[in-house]
Amino acid sequence: MNNLLCDFEAPYLIFFSANPPTLLYYSHFIAIISAMILLFVLFKNVETRKKSPLLLIAMALFIVWAMIDVYLWATNKSYLSIFWWSIQILVEPIIYILSAGVMYNFLREKIPSFKYFFLGFIVLLPLIIFLPTDLTLYEVNLFDCIASESSWIIYYTYFIEILSVLLILLISVYAIYFKKNTVRKNSESILFMLGLIAFLIAFTSGNVIGSLTEDWVTAQYGLFGLPVFIGVLGYLIVKFKTYSLNTFAAQVLIIALVGLVSSLTLVSETAATRNVSVVTLLLTLVLGTILIRSVKKEIRQKEQLERLTIDLAKANKRLKKLDKLKSEFVSIASHQLRSPLTSIRGYASMLAEESFGKLPQKAKEPVERIVESSQRMAGAIEDYLNVSRIESGNMKYNLSDFNLKDEVEKITDDVRAEAMKKGLVLLFRSKLNCEGIVNADIGKTVQIVHNLINNSIKYTPKGSITVLVRDDLVKKKIFVDIVDTGIGMSQETIDHIFEKFERADNANSVNVSGTGLGLFVALKMANAMKGDITAESEGDGKGSVFSFELPLIQ
Ligand code: ADP
Repeated sequence: MNNLLCDFEAPYLIFFSANPPTLLYYSHFIAIISAMILLFVLFKNVETRKKSPLLLIAMALFIVWAMIDVYLWATNKSYLSIFWWSIQILVEPIIYILSAGVMYNFLREKIPSFKYFFLGFIVLLPLIIFLPTDLTLYEVNLFDCIASESSWIIYYTYFIEILSVLLILLISVYAIYFKKNTVRKNSESILFMLGLIAFLIAFTSGNVIGSLTEDWVTAQYGLFGLPVFIGVLGYLIVKFKTYSLNTFAAQVLIIALVGLVSSLTLVSETAATRNVSVVTLLLTLVLGTILIRSVKKEIRQKEQLERLTIDLAKANKRLKKLDKLKSEFVSIASHQLRSPLTSIRGYASMLAEESFGKLPQKAKEPVERIVESSQRMAGAIEDYLNVSRIESGNMKYNLSDFNLKDEVEKITDDVRAEAMKKGLVLLFRSKLNCEGIVNADIGKTVQIVHNLINNSIKYTPKGSITVLVRDDLVKKKIFVDIVDTGIGMSQETIDHIFEKFERADNANSVNVSGTGLGLFVALKMANAMKGDITAESEGDGKGSVFSFELPLIQ
């Protein structure tokens, strides 16, 4: 079995041996170093360790394969050579079978089923059985570093390898084309697949070229496929955060540079180039460390920010849920208050109107108070109900065409008595160039105008209130202005009165019973009908103007 033709010694394996081709330093060392870094970085990350164990195993086996290759170039012990050569023959198809698993693992974030591995084992069985025998590998010529392999084994491993590459293509196309069972974006999957196949093809192409041409030096180029694959992985990680390993790319870049420069140092033939290489190596190390540190710091900060954003979004969601619950509670509570209140109001009004007989003089005022308070309470309950309807999206609008001017005039007539009770003058004016038809919910529109005029009565101790209906035919809008000579508002107050529960500081002095919900509800309803409400005032004590606008039909 041994045909020992070795006439060189390689005491330090390969480093100072004259025989191995110089290219070996580049091809194998860069590949081994890159694979080791990849393995180390992937292994350090708990998520990757859990989610992509096949990639880790494939990388580890690749390192074993490449190390055996280096050893085979350097050793002068033919019995060991035969042993390691057989191991290498077996490891190679295993890497291919695992790579198809890696692709599947990448696409689905799931490990292939036990069946796949069992099938892989069956396919490998002939190699496992025959490799230790003389039938497969029977001679190693250490001088040329060539082993005599029986051809069936060569073709059988090629068969497994081609099958694995086809399998990778098949599952990728299936996932990309039919968009089935994949967690990845198409661009991610395509890149990963191309990188993986490029690596596998390059890896085999070395062997194919070698066995066909007997030129094992050129064959070494094949191993450059691994840095390509690592580059693709690095790009994927940075671009799509595929493996959530952001520092990975920087680390790989620096270590690949260090690997390159160190191999330069080893192959430099003159002292001058060697010195330059050593200085470059040191500089690369220092600058690289700084770069990796700063990348790490930046990523830590970014991750912290992302975590905060997620927390904030969660808190916001919780708050919205609470707000909804609160609206539901208000709605239920208000509904239950409404029916008893209706009967209180009904009976109190009938008492006040003396439907049950004449009231004693002393009882008249208290009964009036009951009527007024129950009316105020009914108004407040209606406000709460409206807010909860708006917030839960349950407010219904029945749109129809109607004459806004006529409606506003009617409302003004209805509330005039109340204004007069306070000694206020309530005027109605119209400056229309058209009929004043709008398409809106008539009930809601009346409610809005009623609310605005009522506010003016509430917040005007003396003077007048003018309700003006006007149009803007260019903008196709109709406006209802309610102009009063009341307590007015500061700009700061105006900025907030349309918000929920907002009341101006001076509001309590005039009218204690407000809820601060009327304008909020009115604006929401106006907006839902494509309209708006704005407020203006020259300041405290200087009166206010509220304008309600709606789109004009004709
Ligand atoms: P409420 O009247 O129940 O307090 P609103 O939402 O109707 O609630 O009004 C909010 C606040 O806007 C009032 O508390 C008051 O401070 C202010 N406001 C409304 N209308 C007028 C007005 N015509 N003049 C002065 N302030 C007003």
